[in-house]
Amino acid sequence: MRDTAAVVSAVSQAKEMVWINPKYLMFELTDALCQLVVSDEDIDDAEKRLQRFAPFIQKKFPETAPTHGIIESELVAIPMMQSALEKEYGVSIPGKLLMKMDSHLPIAGSVKARGGIYEVLTHTENLALANGMISRDESYEKFADDELQNFFHDYTMQVGSTGNLGISVGIMSAAFGFNTIVHMSKDAKAWKKSLLRSHGVKVIEYDDDYAKAVAEGRRQSELNPMSYFVDDEKSVDLFLGYATAAKRLQKQLDEKNIVVDEEHPLLVYIPAGIGGAPGGISYGLKRVYKDNVHCFFCEPTQWPSVLLGMATGKMEKANIKDYGLTGSTHADGLACPSPSSFVTRIMMNLLSGDFTVEDAKLYDFLRLLYRAEGKEIEPSSCAAFVGPLRLLELEDSREYLSSHGLTREILDHSTQIVWATGGSMVPEEVKKQYRNTYL
Ligand SMILES: *Cc1c(COP(=O)(O)O)cnc(C)c1O
Repeated sequence: MRDTAAVVSAVSQAKEMVWINPKYLMFELTDALCQLVVSDEDIDDAEKRLQRFAPFIQKKFPETAPTHGIIESELVAIPMMQSALEKEYGVSIPGKLLMKMDSHLPIAGSVKARGGIYEVLTHTENLALANGMISRDESYEKFADDELQNFFHDYTMQVGSTGNLGISVGIMSAAFGFNTIVHMSKDAKAWKKSLLRSHGVKVIEYDDDYAKAVAEGRRQSELNPMSYFVDDEKSVDLFLGYATAAKRLQKQLDEKNIVVDEEHPLLVYIPAGIGGAPGGISYGLKRVYKDNVHCFFCEPTQWPSVLLGMATGKMEKANIKDYGLTGSTHADGLACPSPSSFVTRIMMNLLSGDFTVEDAKLYDFLRLLYRAEGKEIEPSSCAAFVGPLRLLELEDSREYLSSHGLTREILDHSTQIVWATGGSMVPEEVKKQYRNTYL
């Protein structure tokens, strides 16, 4: 299905599908251009910034003590889930299936703990340095002192969010003492709003979608010279925060003696909303593993905004509502009507493809994972499982595999990673509701 009209027609019918990116190129051909936008040094700088702030983070969030203030998640094998999926759907999933547990990242309980928190740190550091409040060679534990906390009281941090970005930006900026405002769309879950309020964050609710909450937040922030707006639609800082995940994953794979090379490819599936989190992580992974990693995004059939933006070439101007989609989904973390302008461009030649998945399946995956592995993640997060499930089933992904020399024998030696993007902060009663939805 390389023809745009056929892709658009399948998307409009809200069919589960895979879109294979016709502009995908060998890494070498994209490298020079990409590095002009985000270089290896930029990503290394981001990692260093995270390390500078680690003493402060460890002090404020004792749950990060085991990793000394570094916010990181486990990479776990899920063999029981792999066989449960094979059995339930009568399919074969080659290679070794792993799950990256960003669902359980400390502080924010979602992948947003990477990008959202990183951007707060960057802005905080810039303000503190510019005002002579800190120097780079001091311990950043100092950010917990009254003097700095009082300094940040006069500043405002704002963000538009369906929930998880608001949680990560809200909790972290409140920890520095910022006056914090989160603008939330109507898809945002009630417990996320009350969690934020419990951290002293001001939550403004809109009876409209994510794009509206962002636009309103941005507008209000622009009216206040002391205010900073974390802008998910175009932020490079968010992207850098996500990209640092790659070298850390490499370390985890090395520790497990998992080889990634031409004979042992890595396939990664990440749920996408606006594209920032999966884009940043995938970009980082491509820089590390080049042609040996194949990155796929996963989106709800009702909100395939990255797929539409990239397939039509309309990028951030594509809007799911223009394609007759109803715009209702349980995957609140993925409910962005239009994709990021920045990510659709930088991933144009690097993304392998994009799978779509129906809401009901998200809950089936959620239950299977709970029963097979005893792990609980949120519905949005479960979108990633559609990738390994359908990789060998759909004609278009099969064609992708064969055109890249990914034979069954090679795939049997592959590593497939589903990126669990959220869930650990979901209250128990909501987790229970999830297990009983779409039964
Ligand atoms: C935000 C989010 C994503 C996707 O991130 P984007 O940057 O919007 O693409 C995926 N899963 C969960 C649970 C999220 O909160």
